[in-house]
Amino acid sequence: MERIRRTWEPHERTRPFPKPRISGRPEPGTIADTLRLHDGKHRCDAEQAYPQEACGLLIGTLSAAGWNVQAVRQVANLNTERATDRFQLDPEAYRRIDLELRGSQQEIIGVYHSHPDCPAKPSPTDLGSAWEGFVYPIISVYRGQASDVRCWTLGSDERFRSVPLLQESP
Ligand SMILES: [Zn+2]
Repeated sequence: MERIRRTWEPHERTRPFPKPRISGRPEPGTIADTLRLHDGKHRCDAEQAYPQEACGLLIGTLSAAGWNVQAVRQVANLNTERATDRFQLDPEAYRRIDLELRGSQQEIIGVYHSHPDCPAKPSPTDLGSAWEGFVYPIISVYRGQASDVRCWTLGSDERFRSVPLLQESP
């Protein structure tokens, strides 16, 4: 897959961790079916964290065709006051994983989190902390059981749009 160059600049909003090194924005953007391979992992994380929010990073590669997820790493949710409906990625863990990946073909390409007893739709808070170029799977967990997983990304209009899960051709 051909890797694409950065075509955008970071937002001005304050983010809890440094600007991602991610190097492009897939357009129109689909998430490769590889996410399904890791589906069990983040569903499981989400169920274990219930009734609190789980969060973590997606690692893989980005191409003009979309996000290709190769690994899912859970990261601590540092929000202790409102962990049932907010998450704050541990910035140290983010930096550590980012450093680990330097020199490899992989990078951090997205952030997943769970919505305990809520639909898998981004909240206004999610919008405020989102980076362009990242993909954001949200796992809804009802009564401790992971149900729906939907993926989102910021469009050029700074709103979330849904990202389809693409079946990879055999
Ligand atoms: Zn959320």
